Amino acid sequence: MKESITVGLALTALLFALTWLHAGESAPADEEVQPAPAATAAPTPAEETAPVGLHDAEMSLRVLIGDTVETMTMAEYLPCVVQGEMLPSFEAAALSAQAVAERTYILYQIRSGGKPRHPQADVCDDPGCCSAYLSQAEAKAKWGDQYEALSQRVKDAVAATDGVVALYDNQPIMAVFHSSSGGATARCADVWAADLPYLVSVESPEGADTVPNYYSVKTLSEADFRATFAAAHPEADFSGDWLGSPVADASGRVGSLTVGGVTVSGAEMRRLYGLRSTAFTVAREGESVTFRVTGYGHGVGMSQYGANELARQGKTWQEILQWYYTGVTLGGYTNP
Ligand SMILES: [Zn+2]
Repeated sequence: MKESITVGLALTALLFALTWLHAGESAPADEEVQPAPAATAAPTPAEETAPVGLHDAEMSLRVLIGDTVETMTMAEYLPCVVQGEMLPSFEAAALSAQAVAERTYILYQIRSGGKPRHPQADVCDDPGCCSAYLSQAEAKAKWGDQYEALSQRVKDAVAATDGVVALYDNQPIMAVFHSSSGGATARCADVWAADLPYLVSVESPEGADTVPNYYSVKTLSEADFRATFAAAHPEADFSGDWLGSPVADASGRVGSLTVGGVTVSGAEMRRLYGLRSTAFTVAREGESVTFRVTGYGHGVGMSQYGANELARQGKTWQEILQWYYTGVTLGGYTNP
């Protein structure tokens, strides 16, 4: 029997400043459960990918659920986050791609020394920190008589990827993901100021016809807009023509914007005004300021709705992962 990993031990210090970024900010699973699609392609058996490494049942995780740390295997943990992060009715290949992203992200995080927010656990159930977690009991209560079929669907999609991780230079990658992109994903360097070769901008096929709330609008009074901005940047000067035009980054999102003579990033504007993404336009309209926003999430890495769309088009989970994580290979994880 292979040696189990105990993830409380910080294995290698990759010491990325990015380490503690949460993986996603998406949770389309909060939306209404749709009926499972009929006759989607069966998950590809893991044997075909031939990972040489640890199986999910051999990896032990400390999971912070509420205030309690529970120890469980990766095989027990992954279905709960896949069904927490995606609708169980998503295509099987998309659910499998999510499983690989989650597994990879956790191992990356552990190898990087864990998250300072919860040193007592490897992961937590807060989607604002780690990943959304829907326990089997919660899923049962939520899905009622559909529980058996839907949870089995998720478990099968996870099992099809048993032990597989996305690797770059033979190391697990920072496999971040988000809910939906505005046509293309964002380059890591444009969001978090660190460049990773596998997190570049790629096309993403989802759109308003397949994503709930793909377009959103946020309107506030000029006074409120200015007050929010001035609280963060008191030096802003709102005399004259104070609202500039957004400057796009490589993916078409807002790279920067000048307000009252102060230039800030699109990411900061998103934070300040609670926008769903940095893919936005902004305009003064009468006494109001209106943002029009596309997609949801930070935009880096795998788009979950994009993954589902690619799966609908016939792509395998392996192809989906290699679509969103440029230049990665898929293989097993060996305890270094
Ligand atoms: Zn966490």
